[in-house]
Amino acid sequence: MSGQKCRFCNNPLEHVFVDLGVSPVSNDFLTKDALSKMEPMYPLSVYVCEKCFLVQLPAYQSADSLFRDDYVYFSSFSKSWVQHASDYVDMMCERFGYSNDSQVVELASNDGYLLQHFKAKGVPVLGVEPCANVAAAAEKEKGVPSVVKFFGVQTAKELLADGKSADLLLGNNVLAHVPDINDFVGGMKLLLKSDGVITMEFPHLMKLMDLNQFDTIYHEHYSYLSFSAVERIFSHHGLTLFDVEELGTHGGSLRIFARHTEDQSKPVTDRAIEMLNREDKAGYNSLEYYQSYQAQVEKTKRNLLTFLIEAKEQGKAVVGYGAPAKGNTLLNYCGIRTDFIDYTTDLSPHKQGLYLPGVHIPIYAPEKIMETKPDYVLILPWNLKNEIIEQMKEVRSWGGKFVTPIPVVEIHD
Ligand SMILES: [Zn+2]
Repeated sequence: MSGQKCRFCNNPLEHVFVDLGVSPVSNDFLTKDALSKMEPMYPLSVYVCEKCFLVQLPAYQSADSLFRDDYVYFSSFSKSWVQHASDYVDMMCERFGYSNDSQVVELASNDGYLLQHFKAKGVPVLGVEPCANVAAAAEKEKGVPSVVKFFGVQTAKELLADGKSADLLLGNNVLAHVPDINDFVGGMKLLLKSDGVITMEFPHLMKLMDLNQFDTIYHEHYSYLSFSAVERIFSHHGLTLFDVEELGTHGGSLRIFARHTEDQSKPVTDRAIEMLNREDKAGYNSLEYYQSYQAQVEKTKRNLLTFLIEAKEQGKAVVGYGAPAKGNTLLNYCGIRTDFIDYTTDLSPHKQGLYLPGVHIPIYAPEKIMETKPDYVLILPWNLKNEIIEQMKEVRSWGGKFVTPIPVVEIHD
């Protein structure tokens, strides 16, 4: 028993979905000096609520300390993500006919990577973004007006008092990251015009379970969402999910479409009904199904360790590629340090020269791999494996091989 309550329905949380032990906060990269100091570790135990089946990580740390002002993630650095945003804007304008009379509001709008595309079409935009430095970049570099705030009922009321309300309210990779999901969804209910549309994207719990993506569990990620659980939460707040799309992003995401329950102008699609049925059939409305996950995760850990132990016994050199949040979860849970992996590499100069939290593996620029010519390169951001294998194909010139750990250990010859 966790002593914690469900963040949606307030039922006591008594059932563990998966326990990954204790782990440091994943973006807390360490300097060399910090290696000899005490390091904060927090439990990484995910629960499932027996009443509403929301899979969730209780908040062990306040959101303020996770999203510090020096938290640097600029969405525009990822070309494929900016393209994804541009395609979305074209699709939405085509389907719902947004124009210069419409108001689009994005929650967690980051540096304006998405809203810039609406702006280019003459559609008025407003970003809501808690990180001051990324919001400033949105205004300065992309001309996207941004309010520096966490979103919820209070922020919605302030925006309404300012004469703002939304024809389209959207948020990508934010619903799973909010500690108070009722306050967040309640705020959307207030800010949405009577015939407005909400879209949200989040990683699909069905992919996390089917494809062993337990490494996508980390402290900033509070909820692990099925379509059915989100449907219950939105419904409680007077919102109806009327459509859903399955996307390839982040290992498999859902894009949901919601409206006011009273707004009958947009009928619930067959796709939405099919998704509810598919999840129900798979077991997402039964506690037993969730409780089968721990064994699957432990098996994945044994498989990865078996590969590493055998490689080391044969005198092979193994290094990592990437320093993503999911890598920190995987390496800390499996107890993989420099005893197995000599170093990892990352394209971001902000991470080079630092150490992974917890496991203290050093991070270098990818060129280091060409110098040391290891036998195996373990790709930690496995969702980008095709891109990385192409970028790093020189590894094959000395017989080096790429390895992906998830969903099962796979060696790419
Ligand atoms: Zn609940």
